Amino acid sequence: MQRIGVLTSGGDASGMNSCIRAVVRKAIYHGLEVIGIRRGYSGFIDADMGPMNLGSVADIISRGGTILHTARSERFKTKEGRALAMENVERFGIQGLVVIGGDGSFTGASIFSQEHGVPVICVPGTIDNDIAGTDYTIGFDTAVNNVVDAINKIRDTATSHERTFVIEVMGRNSGNIALAAGLAGGAESILIPEIPFNVEDICKKLLNGIKRGKLHSVILVAEGAASGLEIGQQIKALTGFDTKVTILGHLQRGGIPTAFDRILAARLGARAVELLMAGETHKMVGIRAGEIVATDLTEVLGKPSPINKDMYHLARILSI
Ligand code: ADP
Repeated sequence: MQRIGVLTSGGDASGMNSCIRAVVRKAIYHGLEVIGIRRGYSGFIDADMGPMNLGSVADIISRGGTILHTARSERFKTKEGRALAMENVERFGIQGLVVIGGDGSFTGASIFSQEHGVPVICVPGTIDNDIAGTDYTIGFDTAVNNVVDAINKIRDTATSHERTFVIEVMGRNSGNIALAAGLAGGAESILIPEIPFNVEDICKKLLNGIKRGKLHSVILVAEGAASGLEIGQQIKALTGFDTKVTILGHLQRGGIPTAFDRILAARLGARAVELLMAGETHKMVGIRAGEIVATDLTEVLGKPSPINKDMYHLARILSI
C-alpha cells in the first residue's frame, strides 16, 4: 500500500482534527502518501481532494470541527454517485480509505468497499456515542463537557431564582449524552429514550425536593426522549412552578476537544492506518475496556449501542 485517502463525513465532532492528524502523520511515518478528501462523500464524488503533508495537519490538534469539512451527500447513496467516486480513487491512486464519521457514513463506506473492492477502515466520530463496537466515539466527551458547563451556569440562575430548569440535549436516538452529563452535572431527573418515564413521577420528585428545602431543579431531556419545551409545559401545568426551558442545540458540538477525545482520536486514527497497511478492510476501530479493537462493519451497522443501565440507576440514587 502506497497511498491512502481520508475523509470526515456526517455530523462534525470535536477531536476529528486530532484523528486526521494521526492518520496523516502515522501514514507518512510509515512511508505512505495521504490524499485528504474534503466535504465527505460530496468531495469524494467531485474530486475535491489533494495531497496532505506533515504541515497540513500542524496546529489543528486543539481545534474543534474538521479541517477537511464534512457534508451529507445524497448522490453517494446512488450507484452512479459511488461510481464517480471510484473514478477518483483510480485517478488519485488511492489504495485504501479511512472514513471518520457515524453510522450513516459507515453504511456508505461498507457499500462502497463491497461494490468496488476498495479497502475501507472506519473511525467512529460522532458526539452521540451511539455506535456498536466501541465504548466511546470521538467528540462525545467534549460534548458531555459542554453540556456540564451549561448545567453549571444554568444552576447558578436556577438557584438564585429558585426555579426549575429543563435542559434539552442532543444525542439523536441515544440517551448517552444526557445520561453522562446528567450524572456529572447532578441533574435531578434524566429523561432518555432507552428508559420509559412519566412526567407525574418527575413532578412528585420535584415537590419532594422543595419540601426538603431544595432551591432549584435541573431536568435533563435527551432530544430522542421528548421535546424539552413540551416537558417544561407539562411540569408547569402539573406543579405551577416557574419552569424555564433551554435547548442547548449546536453549542454542544464544537469547542476545544478534551484531552480524552484527542487521545482517543489519535489512537483510533493510528490504528486505522495500521489496519490498512496489514491488508484489513470493512472494519471499524473502537475502544473497549481501554483497548483499541477492530470490529467487522457487519457487527457494527444497525446494531444497538445500549446505555449503561448501572450509570442510570446510580444517577437516580444520587439525585434522590
Ligand atoms: P452520520 O455518519 O453522522 O451517521 P449521516 O447519516 O448523515 O451521518 O450519513 C452521512 C453520509 O453517509 C450521507 O450523507 C451519505 O452520503 C452516506 N450514507 C448514509 N447512508 C448511506 C447509504 N445507505 N448508502 C450510501 N451512502 C450512505
